[in-house]
Amino acid sequence: MTVEERRNLVADAANLSEEHIAALSEHGELDETAADRMIENVIGTMSLPVGVATNFVVDGKHYLIPFCLEESSVVAAASNMAKRCLAHGGFTTRNDAPVMIGQIQLLDIQDLNAAEEAILGQKDALMAFCNDVPSRMIALGGGCKDIEVRRLPTELGTMLVVHLLVDCRDAMGANAVNTMAERVAPRLEALSSGRAHLRILSNLAGHRLARVRAVFSPEEMASDGTRDDGLAVIQGILEAHAFAVEDPFRATTHNKGIMNAISSVALACGQDWRAIEAGCHAWTTMEDGRYTSMSSWSEDENGNLVGSMELPMAVGIVGGASKVHPAAKANLAVLGVETAQELAGIMLCAGLAQNLGALRALSTKGIQAGHMKLHAKNMAVSAGAEGEEVDLLAARLQAYEGHRTQSLVETWLDEMRRA
Ligand code: NAD
Repeated sequence: MTVEERRNLVADAANLSEEHIAALSEHGELDETAADRMIENVIGTMSLPVGVATNFVVDGKHYLIPFCLEESSVVAAASNMAKRCLAHGGFTTRNDAPVMIGQIQLLDIQDLNAAEEAILGQKDALMAFCNDVPSRMIALGGGCKDIEVRRLPTELGTMLVVHLLVDCRDAMGANAVNTMAERVAPRLEALSSGRAHLRILSNLAGHRLARVRAVFSPEEMASDGTRDDGLAVIQGILEAHAFAVEDPFRATTHNKGIMNAISSVALACGQDWRAIEAGCHAWTTMEDGRYTSMSSWSEDENGNLVGSMELPMAVGIVGGASKVHPAAKANLAVLGVETAQELAGIMLCAGLAQNLGALRALSTKGIQAGHMKLHAKNMAVSAGAEGEEVDLLAARLQAYEGHRTQSLVETWLDEMRRA
């Protein structure tokens, strides 16, 4: 299909408005006036492709998932793997309430016990104060739900760190939480007889976890549909996973593959993907301080491959760029999510599928075979190919069995033009 044909098909399936379709169309996504309102010193905008991953059944519902990224094979691999758990009903998610942490750092406290007691003794009054503002988020049942106090020994002495646990409903909540933390800080200073220093949310959203689980049968994992081949593929995936669990050098690349999907869906849907990335990487260290695999893979008693993952997922479908960027609005409409928690779960499914795609390719024919399909075209364009030259050079490169290098493509282009 052409890009336009695909877009029309998705527009029909997702019931997109004319405005959404226009936002996804060529150069329609963000005008300069809107861009100039988003950041400082704007000199232009920059586009990346948006592709939809298919075959995703999540909690019994079928989704088309928009990915925004520059890397080939990611959308194809995620779609391919999502198909391989359909026999067991697709992906199942379980997502926490959207609770973020706002941190207030309290310094220069003479009596830590008394300060902690005073703050916790006034917990209800402090929460009421935090929630006593006109806010749609609070009107919808969100707001500060609990307050915790932590003691933090540091090289500059022991500090008190107050955590506001804030239910952000369908917002990511950074602005809402930061505003709340700044507003309540003077009260905490008075109660602790200390000095409030930093007042900001934590991107380690450990109360806002999303979880996914999926079961892949040997037949679905096989290259040729046979159980024996599938069992061998599953064994290879378990060996690759064991490597990532124990070795941070491998885990970093393993997790980068997971973030290939999570960050791409986040970007497509106007999320703060840096916040999500920071939170996901940090979360892997929470058990014993060691950086490890974000995902877990095991075999069940019937020989099926079982994948699962639990990660903090600070996402919103109101606020931030999700309501400002026209293409982000269109992509959220393609997904058709109704809550931030639903979006969080889908992003984990995409991450798990992407992880499986990489593990399967790496433990069978290697990653370059799939990558080369589109990458060959990129190499041809980088060499200066135009029009028909691109496909001709890409086809020659894919068929080539020797060492494929950029200078080889340049030589071929030169030969082609001289012939
Ligand atoms: P926001 O500031 O737009 O706040 C959300 C608003 O939507 C609130 O006013 C809320 O009352 C309202 N609202 C309407 N319907 C709602 C619903 N159903 N549920 C919840 N709220 C509803 O957005 P935000 O999520 O607070 O902030 C996100 C932005 O903050 C992102 O763009 C991010 O880049 C930025 N940011 C991030 C960090 C960080 O460290 N991660 C720091 C500062 C800013």
